[in-house]
Amino acid sequence: MTVQEPFRALVARRQEKGHAVEPTGLKMADLPPGNVTIRVTHSSLNYKDGLALQGRPGILKTFPIVPGIDLAGEVVDGSGEGFGPGDQVVVTGWGIGENTSGGYAEYARVQSEWVEPLPAGTDSAWAMAVGTAGFTAMLAVLALERHTFYGADLGGPILVTGATGGVGSTAVALLAAAGHEVHASTGKLDQADYLRELGAAEVLPREEISELNRPLESERWAAAIDTVGGSTLAGIMAATRRQGAVAVCGLAGSAELTATVFPLILRGVSLLGIDSVACPRPLRREAWARLARDLPIERLAPMTQTYTLDDLPGLSRRILAGELRGRSVIRVA
Ligand code: NDP
Repeated sequence: MTVQEPFRALVARRQEKGHAVEPTGLKMADLPPGNVTIRVTHSSLNYKDGLALQGRPGILKTFPIVPGIDLAGEVVDGSGEGFGPGDQVVVTGWGIGENTSGGYAEYARVQSEWVEPLPAGTDSAWAMAVGTAGFTAMLAVLALERHTFYGADLGGPILVTGATGGVGSTAVALLAAAGHEVHASTGKLDQADYLRELGAAEVLPREEISELNRPLESERWAAAIDTVGGSTLAGIMAATRRQGAVAVCGLAGSAELTATVFPLILRGVSLLGIDSVACPRPLRREAWARLARDLPIERLAPMTQTYTLDDLPGLSRRILAGELRGRSVIRVA
């Protein structure tokens, strides 16, 4: 393996107060230990990356570190279950870009158990157009489908909140691909055409849900995928139909949850927690296979923009301000 050193990276270093992220040339010896080396061609920008890049505490747990919670590229050294040198692979979660260096560098070194081979017919650009956000949306759809195993009925409208975001946009497209009637809630009503193009049957202003404040509201949605948390999640719980379920993915609005147990104990509503970081491997494989089927590159195109490492400072400000739409792929090499 011949590597041109130094190679391009963004590196976060601790400062007197907090941390700062800067472009830096790295050598292979600077990468953390691991038994698989990947030439990273693509990464992406997720909400967590926005927090890390903007110097917010809580995401980056060690310094110096390369941020970027997901990556895709070619294995240059090492092997694992279903992949070896020369294969295209994807890594999301497992602490990359948080506890150990991640995707914003031309090379990454990781543990073989974290690496998934790309499904046949896909490539790294596709994998990062999906990224952690799309993978999370897929886990949410699979969780709702598992919920129907004992007869719960998803045959009604399904709500997606934060619908123009990365998780939201991919959730709308995945639910529509699975034949559901999707209601998309957004703070950007000027993006209604975009959401309809992704497959939403109805577009609702976000206040319509966050202002639902009674313990039980009229039953509106068979299920929901929530990326917002806070009063939005409390409102969804109160308006979910009997035996329905809410896949709880995020906190774009708030990490707090003030609600009553009435929807849970009087209507059998379930909260399904979604954790993409430590998701077990069999479920990961199932999710990536299903993503390859239901979210091909043509379906991702309307929600995907491609940028470079140089664009990340500006993009990270915009994702935290809720200004970005869909998925931001970062072309690394
Ligand atoms: P994005 O920033 O792409 O999307 C978030 C969306 O939420 C925005 O586009 C906006 O959509 C809406 N939003 C933003 N701010 C507010 C607010 N103050 N109140 C209400 N809605 C708001 O982020 P991602 O899609 O990458 O992530 C979404 C959430 O999911 C984040 O909290 C993230 O941490 C979490 N997440 C969790 C994962 C897991 O494993 N559980 C994995 C990945 C993400 P609109 O304008 O359409 O309303």
